[in-house]
Amino acid sequence: MTIEELRAEARAWIAAHRDVAVPAHGAHLPHDHVPGERDRRWLDAARDGGWVCLSWPERYGGRALSELEIIAVNEEFARAGVRRPDLGMGETLVAPALLAHGTPEQKDHFLPRVRSGEDVYCQGFSEPETGSDLARLRTRGTVEDGAVRVTGHKIWTSHGRAANMMFLLCRTDPDAPRHRGLSYVLLPLDGGGVDMRPIRQLTGGSGFCEEFLDGAVAPLFNVIGGVNGGWRVAMTTLGAERAGEITGQYFGYRREFDALLGRLRARDRLGDPDVRRALARAYVRVELMRHTGRRVADEMAAGRDVSALLAIDKINWSEYHCDFGSLALDAQGPAGLLRPPGDGYPVDEFQQVMLGSRGRRIARGTNQIQRDIIAGRVLGLPR
Ligand SMILES: Cc1cc2nc3c(=O)[nH]c(=O)nc-3n(C[C@H](O)[C@H](O)[C@H](O)COP(=O)(O)OP(=O)(O)OC[C@H]3O[C@@H](n4cnc5c(N)ncnc54)[C@H](O)[C@@H]3O)c2cc1C
Repeated sequence: MTIEELRAEARAWIAAHRDVAVPAHGAHLPHDHVPGERDRRWLDAARDGGWVCLSWPERYGGRALSELEIIAVNEEFARAGVRRPDLGMGETLVAPALLAHGTPEQKDHFLPRVRSGEDVYCQGFSEPETGSDLARLRTRGTVEDGAVRVTGHKIWTSHGRAANMMFLLCRTDPDAPRHRGLSYVLLPLDGGGVDMRPIRQLTGGSGFCEEFLDGAVAPLFNVIGGVNGGWRVAMTTLGAERAGEITGQYFGYRREFDALLGRLRARDRLGDPDVRRALARAYVRVELMRHTGRRVADEMAAGRDVSALLAIDKINWSEYHCDFGSLALDAQGPAGLLRPPGDGYPVDEFQQVMLGSRGRRIARGTNQIQRDIIAGRVLGLPR
């Protein structure tokens, strides 16, 4: 099938399922978003229609699409203004690791459970003392009786409360060099030994959790890449994390920009020269993201390494989003600070961006780390 045929198929499917479609959100779903009934119906439709797990082999219910084909599908969903559902980290982060490093039995067992929604994953890499320098992690895994028992402290676990499984790294050989003694474990969260506590965030929500693990058990079957072979598996997961959303993101940022324009017009704020200048600058940055996305797609099509471009893009979109959040509130004047009515700590869509965007400079490799990558790989500077 050509890319044009694939695009046409996606457009036709979306048109036929408009009644259950969930509208696209802004640039990012709020970090504490909890899927509702409507999200579930839309996910079911997309699963039945073959619009999830697109990169997976057909044997596991995927369509074996290339990155470029997936970009095309994402663009069609985004252009139609509807969200393309996915199965979270199980689909996007665990599956690439399983496909690259799992045994045939592990793939047969775990992948269908991700696709059906039976297993929902969260990521247990970070610890209180370990984030950027992941190989320093301290959580221990003790291998005995055909199982690994995990004891330690994980933190900043996005969507932890929605998950029944955690993919984590733990140290199974404390005497080995630090990258070599780690194991990548798929840990059931409902088997005891897991004390998960929500962490309240700036936005008022609790999209994060921390976990105190005390002898939590996973069978050795759940260790991917073999005991002490976890580092390269984790690198596959982190590579997948960074390649994620390259061209589709433009549409989300553009939707948010247009929404702000609409609000400022309604509040008669567009005559202010400072507001106009700031909006023009923001618009240029959104358009640059569109071009960067296209450039990455073109480079991938030509078979070239895009890791440096992805590092540049990560800095661009996350810094832009912080600036846009501030602009959105400043440009509205004092009204920008008024919270919507409601119980708890309600925030409107722009307050959500302003508060939620700060963490994205840290998530997925901090922007300082991305600058290090650019310094080394692009500019050839010494370490
Ligand atoms: C929104 C969000 C979602 C997240 N979701 C998850 C999740 O689901 N699962 C999970 O495991 N983790 C998650 N994290 C955690 C995230 O991966 C870590 O916060 C991140 O890796 C940074 O680690 P740290 O917080 O320990 O900071 P540190 O690594 O301690 O860094 C502190 C500061 O030092 C700088 N720094 C560190 N090393 C260097 C260096 N070599 N050169 C230059 N500067 C350096 C950093 O840039 C930063 O400014 C999430 C974080 C956020 C904000």
